[in-house]
Amino acid sequence: MITVENLTKRYGPHPAVDDVSFQCEPGTVTGFLGPNGAGKSTTMRMICGLTTPTAGRATVSGHPYRDLPNPGREVGVLLDASAQHAGRTGREALTLSAYTMGLDRREVAAKLDLVGLNAVAAKRRVRAYSLGMRQRLGLAQAMLGDPRVLILDEPANGLDPEGIFWMRGLLRDFADRGGTVLLSSHLLREVEAVADRLVVIGGGRIVAQGDKNELLAGG
Ligand code: ADP
Ligand code: ADP
Repeated sequence: MITVENLTKRYGPHPAVDDVSFQCEPGTVTGFLGPNGAGKSTTMRMICGLTTPTAGRATVSGHPYRDLPNPGREVGVLLDASAQHAGRTGREALTLSAYTMGLDRREVAAKLDLVGLNAVAAKRRVRAYSLGMRQRLGLAQAMLGDPRVLILDEPANGLDPEGIFWMRGLLRDFADRGGTVLLSSHLLREVEAVADRLVVIGGGRIVAQGDKNELLAGG
C-alpha cells in the first residue's frame, strides 16, 4: 500500500509537484502517466524519502519510507536505471545489495534468472550494458528482498517490445499475488496493458485518476 497525501515540491516559483494525492492498493498495478517534466520522478523520490517534500506526506505500508524497519524487504525501488553501478558487474551489484539485506547468494542467482540476465551478462560490467539490460538488473535489485511494494520509474525505457511484454507479465504476476505496484511512464502504451488504475500527472498536478477502463472509455 502506498498513500500520497497533498505532496508538493517547489524548487523555484513553480511547483514541480503540486498538491498530489493518490493511493496504490495491494493487488493492483497503478500506472503513473505524464509527459517528461510532469513531476513523476519527483513524486516517486518523495515517496522513497530521497527528496524532502515542501508540503504533504507519503507512506509505504503505513510508514514514511525512512521509518520502515526493513525497507528492502518491504519495498523495491527502481529509479533511473541508467545511473547505477557502472563499474561493477551485474552479479557484484546484486550481491552487495543482498548482503546489506541479510540475503545470501542464492537469492542473487534466483533474481538474475527471474529477469533473464544470463550468466554471460551477469559477469559483465554494468557500464557495458544496454539500457534494457540495466532495467532488468534494476528490476532484479528491486525484487531481491521479495518486497510487497514495487516503485518503478520508467522501467520500460530502453526495453525492446519483447522486454516490455516480458515485464508486463512479471508485474502482473507480482500484483496478482497481492503486491502493490507503482509504475511510471510517459507512454500510455507502456502501461495500458498492465495497469488496473491510472494516475495522470501534467505540470505537477493530477489531471485524472481512476480505474483504467473507465478513464480510457471516458476519453
Ligand atoms: P518527470 O519524472 O515526470 O519527467 P520530474 O519529476 O523529473 O518529471 O521533473 C518535474 C519538474 O521538476 C521539471 O520541471 C524538472 O525540471 C524539475 N526538477 C526536478 N528535479 C529538480 C531539481 N533537483 N532541481 C530543480 N528542478 C527540478
Ligand atoms: P536490449 O537491452 O537490447 O533491449 P533486452 O534488455 O531485452 O535487450 O535483453 C534481452 C536478453 O538478452 C537479456 O535477458 C540479456 O540477458 C540478453 N542480452 C542482451 N545483451 C546481452 C549481452 N551483451 N550479453 C549477454 N546477454 C545479453
